[in-house]
Amino acid sequence: MREESSHAMEEKLKRIIRDVPDFPKPGILFKDITPILNEPELLRETVEALARPFRSEGISKVLGIESRGFIFAPLLAVALGTGFVPARKPGKLPWETVSESYALEYGNDALEIHRDAFKPGERVLVVDDLLATGGTASAAARLVEKIGGKVAGAAFVIELEFLGGRQKLPIARVHTLVRF
Ligand code: AMP
Repeated sequence: MREESSHAMEEKLKRIIRDVPDFPKPGILFKDITPILNEPELLRETVEALARPFRSEGISKVLGIESRGFIFAPLLAVALGTGFVPARKPGKLPWETVSESYALEYGNDALEIHRDAFKPGERVLVVDDLLATGGTASAAARLVEKIGGKVAGAAFVIELEFLGGRQKLPIARVHTLVRF
């Protein structure tokens, strides 16, 4: 779905996304999206561009991944007229949860959602700020399927193409606005 993201939009976002070297640890070039949030018109355009390919896809829930997915996913949910479901780090959700773990560079982490977050067959859009290796979003997709939801697609502001996350995702429709 690459052709649907406009070149002008990509250039605008590339100019404003801030590179922070060695955060949160040495060797990581952190892509800081907070300057986008500071520009009302660009924020609106970003949300609209993320939502556009999914407007006629019968999506009924947007799942956001903690933490920066929580910024974009509820905005997308409002744009698409859907509900929002938070996928959180272990131990944060108050009710009964299902859990999926995934590999990090060093060790493992996990994501949880409430057991009743989706109705069977509900079509879900997975959202985060950035797609790197794809481990986090893959775990989110497994969570959706675990409780009977159907992953209809995934949307990210940024894709680190050189890490090949797109190829690893068990999701056919992956939409990103900026590629590095
Ligand atoms: P991955 O599971 O490797 O696809 O990593 C994606 C998750 O880690 C997302 O939640 C991102 O917000 C975060 N992330 C990974 N690499 C970066 C980076 N270079 N800059 C900002 N966030 C990152």
